[in-house]
Amino acid sequence: MSQPSDSNVSPAVPSTTPATWLGVMGGGQLGRMFAHAAQSMGFKVAVLEAEQDCPAGQVADRLLQAPYDDARALAELGGLCAAVTTEFENVSAKSLAALAAHTFVAPAASGVSIAQDRTAEKAFFTECGSRSGVLPAPHAVINADSDIAALSPDLLPGILKTARMGYDGKGQVRVRTLDEVRSAFAGMNGVTCVLEKMLPLAYEISVLVARGADGNAVVYPIAENVHRDGILFTTTVPGPNVKTASAEQAQQAALQIIGSLAYVGVLCIEFFVLQDGSLVVNEMAPRPHNSGHYTIDACVTSQFEQQARAMARLPLGDTRQHSPAVMLNILGDVWFDGDTLREPAWDQVLALPGAHVHLYGKAEARRGRKMGHVTFTAATVDVAQQQLTAACGILGIAI
Ligand code: ATP
Ligand code: MG
Repeated sequence: MSQPSDSNVSPAVPSTTPATWLGVMGGGQLGRMFAHAAQSMGFKVAVLEAEQDCPAGQVADRLLQAPYDDARALAELGGLCAAVTTEFENVSAKSLAALAAHTFVAPAASGVSIAQDRTAEKAFFTECGSRSGVLPAPHAVINADSDIAALSPDLLPGILKTARMGYDGKGQVRVRTLDEVRSAFAGMNGVTCVLEKMLPLAYEISVLVARGADGNAVVYPIAENVHRDGILFTTTVPGPNVKTASAEQAQQAALQIIGSLAYVGVLCIEFFVLQDGSLVVNEMAPRPHNSGHYTIDACVTSQFEQQARAMARLPLGDTRQHSPAVMLNILGDVWFDGDTLREPAWDQVLALPGAHVHLYGKAEARRGRKMGHVTFTAATVDVAQQQLTAACGILGIAI
């Protein structure tokens, strides 16, 4: 096995093989699906999470119940595990850096901290774009009211986004005038924001890439994503709108980004394709991503197995897609019949050919809460899409 080249590898940590422990910061569904994949390869999985009944905690070999910044728990996790990753974007880069004193952390705090801050992320993408030609949306950083007066009118209409802690469209306000920027910024409680020009999107795509500690990188097929109310609704691969030229350009840009970060692990990068066909890089998630869930059922190596391989410094797996696929996110809304809660008709969904139901073990269904997903695989993407439409009918999801 090749020697790790990343600087946060402690020389005392041997190369790993299955039968050792891998750790996850965060107890959500991404940690749960990671645990499933890692355990099936023979690893034991430890999860650090403050909440006891959490999706990943339910399946982990060990749950360390503590906040993400608890120094003693971090030392215990780092002491137990050959490598640790994070499944939750907002685990502080500081905690990951502290963990790196004890074990191999993949991805490293340096890459995660860029992804956690839109201003750093956009600066990084702009730098990468000078080589790949794929740039972020025109934008400006707003720290104070005085920055608003200096804004170029070209950025309007736009979207004001908080620099940190945004997800699923939270922390975003659409603005048309400088006065609207002022009042939206006032509503953000003084945190740093980024104003982005509103672009004419044709469709949205994401590119999943992974890089090993030896510097080898692999890329998955392009996923086409549809959002609803700021939350991912469906992912289709191959995407019906995706053209070969923009797919290749996005894959090349993604490989360049992961290489520039000297990143180890799975990274997901979201792009916009504009109405004129040009490509804009939006943001990245330093972990497996909702738009990569289809890889569990449709690719040779799932994004979660890939993460385990990268962490354990094993060879990365084949990213080839063996079946066309569409993924439907299942939100808590489908448990509601008016105000009454009832279990959705999974038997009917599972009767549809090619249905793969994944539920995350969350005790309480709430509107807008991600409870699971269903991937349909089929001989063609059109057939998979028909099954998804049928599932929406069964589950009462308007399409
Ligand atoms: P998530 O983490 O769930 O992907 P987020 O809250 O971090 O979402 P973004 O991905 O930046 O936010 O934006 C959410 C959605 O808003 C995008 O998927 C896109 O549909 C739309 N959007 C964001 N920025 C722009 C833009 N500059 N022009 C047009 N639409 C945009
Ligand atoms: Mg996004």
